[in-house]
Amino acid sequence: MDSWHFVYEGFDPEEEDLREALCTLGNGYFATRGAGAESQADDVHYPGTYLAGGYNRLKTRIAGKVIENEDLVNLPNWLPLTFRPKGGKWFDLQDVKILSFRQELNLKEGVLVRKVRFKDSKGRETTLVNHRLVHMGNPHLAAQKMELTAENWSGPIEISAALDGRIVNAGVERYKALNSKHLESLETRASGELINLKTQTNQSELRIAISARTRLYSDGKLLSVVPRTTEKKGYICHHFTANLEEGKSLSAEKVISLHTSRDKAISECSLESEKKVQRAGSFDDLLRSHKLSWKHLWERFRIELDWTGGSSHDDQELILNLYTFHMLQTSSYHTMDMDVGVPSRGWHGEAYRGHIFWDELFIFPLINLRIPEITRALLMYRYRRLNEAREAARQEGYKGAMYPWQSGSNGREESQKIHLNPKSGRWILDNSRLQRHVNAAIAYNVWHYYQVTNDMEFLSFYGAEMFLEIARFWGSIATYNSEHDRYEILGVMGPDEYHDSYPDSERPGLDNNAYTNIMAVWVVSRALELLDLLAEDRRTELCEAIGLRPGEIEKWKVVTKKMRVVLHDEGIISQFQGYDRLKEFDWEGYRKKYDDIQRLDRILEAEDDTPNNYKASKQADVLMLFYLFSAEELKEIFEKLGYAFEDDTIPKNIEYYLDRTSHGSTLSRVVHSWVLARSDRPRSWELFNEALKSDVADIQGGTTPEGIHLGAMAGAVDLIQRCYTDIRTSKDVLWFNPMLPEKLTSIRMTIRYRDHTLHIEIGQERMNIDSIKAAALPIQIGFKDKVYELQPEGSKEFQL
Ligand code: BGC
Repeated sequence: MDSWHFVYEGFDPEEEDLREALCTLGNGYFATRGAGAESQADDVHYPGTYLAGGYNRLKTRIAGKVIENEDLVNLPNWLPLTFRPKGGKWFDLQDVKILSFRQELNLKEGVLVRKVRFKDSKGRETTLVNHRLVHMGNPHLAAQKMELTAENWSGPIEISAALDGRIVNAGVERYKALNSKHLESLETRASGELINLKTQTNQSELRIAISARTRLYSDGKLLSVVPRTTEKKGYICHHFTANLEEGKSLSAEKVISLHTSRDKAISECSLESEKKVQRAGSFDDLLRSHKLSWKHLWERFRIELDWTGGSSHDDQELILNLYTFHMLQTSSYHTMDMDVGVPSRGWHGEAYRGHIFWDELFIFPLINLRIPEITRALLMYRYRRLNEAREAARQEGYKGAMYPWQSGSNGREESQKIHLNPKSGRWILDNSRLQRHVNAAIAYNVWHYYQVTNDMEFLSFYGAEMFLEIARFWGSIATYNSEHDRYEILGVMGPDEYHDSYPDSERPGLDNNAYTNIMAVWVVSRALELLDLLAEDRRTELCEAIGLRPGEIEKWKVVTKKMRVVLHDEGIISQFQGYDRLKEFDWEGYRKKYDDIQRLDRILEAEDDTPNNYKASKQADVLMLFYLFSAEELKEIFEKLGYAFEDDTIPKNIEYYLDRTSHGSTLSRVVHSWVLARSDRPRSWELFNEALKSDVADIQGGTTPEGIHLGAMAGAVDLIQRCYTDIRTSKDVLWFNPMLPEKLTSIRMTIRYRDHTLHIEIGQERMNIDSIKAAALPIQIGFKDKVYELQPEGSKEFQL
């Protein structure tokens, strides 16, 4: 293995589902799991193809209630391409003796290659090599090549290439009791070289058309073989017969195009998919242009590392490349022209139904500094759902806009009302929608996109409206408590999902979650600043349009001085009011009792207990504050509120909460590694390495096969990008304050900041910044409290 080839040697049915998720190929428009072209959904395999934003809603009666879920729909399977010796059995990995097996995901080129040598029951030895790509340049195209070599036999073979629309969503075990049939077949049609399939989702009426063209080649020459077609409802297949000679190879190339009724610049989706395949070149032609698109992406996203003693750390670099690769397959250039958000689990599986959460907070920083145009598109997804968020706020009696915890097609709240605990088999009330902090994350993202790009046009016309409406929401959810002479936010949940109410209380939610309250203060303070940033005519126009009056703005000013933050044990920021009264949790006892206590919520519920009773968190909550803000920023907020923020506040709180967290979310280790980067470099590095393992080792024991954890993936890469370099964008300055982990001798990367392309090289002792592409204006670079000007095409060196 090197840092660009993610390789599996040997077939392992137990691990196949994980490999399929990690070997997913996608281009931001659609994604296909890395299941074998001959496989079908069964105990071992789960082929899946998902369209970015391809949702459908279905109702199910469960636990005496009718519930509705909006799912990411598993689309018709375009993969089927397989063979058999004439009259024999269709190729099945589990039916043959595998002589060698190697699967390789080439991250640099975006190609999945599987090479299998096997012997069948008749002693025939065959080598099968599959190449697959989902085109990064033309988002509607994908292609596969199957090469067969008869090692010790000759004879006629049959090849079949199908499109299969008889698909249900079955990728997540715990959703299996829910209705799962989303697709209705509309049409199957063969026309010349092509087979075509059209289906429609049964609620959202999304039409999906796929066309496939399969050609056979021998010795590089096109064979003229006329296929036979078979059709069933929702299924169409081309069958070919050819001769395979001992020692010779035969290849089948299947090129497909996928279009939907939502595409732009189309007449009708099946016309478009047919046309696109007819015009497409051979597999090799497509491979060339696909590789070029990946080359361009990597030029922007590559991070190069040097290690102490010149040693190689291919494993770590490989995983970092793999995680960046999956991020780019989820949100790419093609996202810019689509109405989609960035899903927490990628378009790689059905977990969390392709929904959009606050995980954007962990993903955007990586995109912001590389291709911020993608972030802008993802923020526009939120903007288009502003009216829905306004309505949600209104229904709860608040002003402004209240975005949902889980967002899908039209921005209504998509969080489940009940969920299944697979450990106990019980359906449990799900209060996670009370995580109103997602609104602060959206505002934070708008602000930071603006900081990186200075995109005033976006800020004035879209960002400001979202930002001000979110600020109004925080202003109105904050209620005055005269006893304390403070504002409070009651009945919400913080990021830690183990705590959703007080012990023995019927009322869902908690009061004064510190993270939520501080984020609310930050949003409202920035909203005040934002009003000053806007041109006067736009400010007036916007305030009039949304009905923002001086009285409300006055309340914001008071809230920034009087929000309540509860403290206990001399300087510990209470995760929420009353946290100090919860029982300490028996960590040691439970670690002995269970192999894995990451999902303590499920363990305790199965024991008729609940984490609500204990000082035990699923993930970073208070510590999120140290992840998002510098010590100086927090000191300013706390002191303005009249609370002390001492030198030891940060280390003291880190120590306190680190001991009380089970890391039941993959986001948690990223945050903990980050907050320890200065004070405890070895521990931070250890947590960074654990965060790196989240998906490749499926550390949650079964969640990655259902979809990657994109927040943790991007967050882990961002630990290298922004944390160890301490890159911050604030008040028109790009700040650096690097302190590399001992193992790293240098980091090289190219980032974009306010129209400058900056080549950055950071070592243990020196840092170089070169502006390598001209921009009109100089930028401000901050280093250790001082600000310097960097001219277009200028460079600067700093001693660390
Ligand atoms: C975490 C959330 C996260 C969600 C989606 C949950 O397990 O607790 O913080 O947003 O997964 O990734």
